Amino acid sequence: MEGADSLAAHGAIFKKQVIRVAEGVHVAVGFGLANSIMIEGEDGRIIVDTMESARAARAVKAEFDRICPKPVRAIIYTHNHYDHIMGAAVFAGDDRPEVISHALLPKLVERSQGALRQAMLPRNIRQFGILLPSEDFLNAGIGPRLVLDGRGSSSSFVPPTRLLDRPRTQLRIAGVDMQLVHAPGETDDQIYVWLPEQRVLLAGDNFYWAFPNLYAIRGTPYRDPRLWADSLDKMLAERPAFLVPSHSLPLVGEDRIREVLTDYRDAIRSVYEQTLAGMNEGLSPDELAERVALPERLADKPYLQPYYGTVSWAVRAIYAGNLGWFDGNASHLFPLPPKQEAERIADLAGGTDALLRKARQALEQGEYQWAAQLADWLMALSAEPGEPHLLKAKALRALGVRQQNANARNYYLAAARELQFAVRRHKANSARQTDASRGEKNP
Ligand SMILES: [Zn+2]
Repeated sequence: MEGADSLAAHGAIFKKQVIRVAEGVHVAVGFGLANSIMIEGEDGRIIVDTMESARAARAVKAEFDRICPKPVRAIIYTHNHYDHIMGAAVFAGDDRPEVISHALLPKLVERSQGALRQAMLPRNIRQFGILLPSEDFLNAGIGPRLVLDGRGSSSSFVPPTRLLDRPRTQLRIAGVDMQLVHAPGETDDQIYVWLPEQRVLLAGDNFYWAFPNLYAIRGTPYRDPRLWADSLDKMLAERPAFLVPSHSLPLVGEDRIREVLTDYRDAIRSVYEQTLAGMNEGLSPDELAERVALPERLADKPYLQPYYGTVSWAVRAIYAGNLGWFDGNASHLFPLPPKQEAERIADLAGGTDALLRKARQALEQGEYQWAAQLADWLMALSAEPGEPHLLKAKALRALGVRQQNANARNYYLAAARELQFAVRRHKANSARQTDASRGEKNP
């Protein structure tokens, strides 16, 4: 199975259910983008990750309450991403639990809520397909779909009451012995929870059933692959018998878990090392994105398919994370501004109309990427939203519906809808203006 068929089939792992993983450990899968995990203790329970919204959290809590209605003694955030922290108040209720995270979490929450909110919001909306109609939406790659609260609802995030800054912290909560281990990976504040008695490891986002998202197109800081691989080594050293990730299904059996985590680690290291080797040969990010691939041994593993992260985006992130934005080509030091470049390209094509014909042709011939690139030049030359925008929308749609990567699919389809909307809005505004000016002339 390839492309969108494979992505659609991948959705089966997000069936809504609460799974009893081991004695006293339950995970809710499929209630939203992320999982939430409940650990039963003697006189209370512990919740690890709290979903992305009060709405998603309420649905999970109702299920958990049926299994174990004891008070919540602690909430643990595996990391700062919204899908793990935004339902905390629902689980806390009136129980006044201790809320535990790594010491870096508050600063990272502030980054996404504060200074860069406006930059990240539209990209988030596209990546997660938040506004896509259900007929366009397959799944989010690591969960069925982001479940958000309605407009105007207040945040259900509860700031941590206890910050961890040591590599490993031993705790006993509600009679349960646990170790919280700093394990940077998808984020720098990532921790995993190790329950030595039951040999259960709660992995946070350091493992899920898809190629790891070493870069998120919604816009995230550099995720150092070496640290992520080292964290997987730490997880392997625990020799877990149960692995419960915060996205996708739990895994059972020491041998199976060792195999899966080893492959995951090796995939990350291989992509990193291949990229560095290519950088040392003087290759550019574009050249490396084309060249680097998973080793044959790993390429077909179901948990390394590009449903969420992709190798080529990881390669570009590794390049930028180590050498910055400049690809080494002197022509790119001070490139022509987009409009000036577009004017010259149109001239080369024999004029703007000829360029437009070429773009239409590319679309008809199924050269969707090229059609989108041609449309970019045409859009740079058009004063108002019009045919180039609709042409690009068609190209993006065609690219989107063929994608195996959920983030790419959602981003393409959302961007296409935005372009169509811009043209519709422009037409409606122009029609209104024409009516108004006619009205003035013929009172
Ligand atoms: Zn997550």
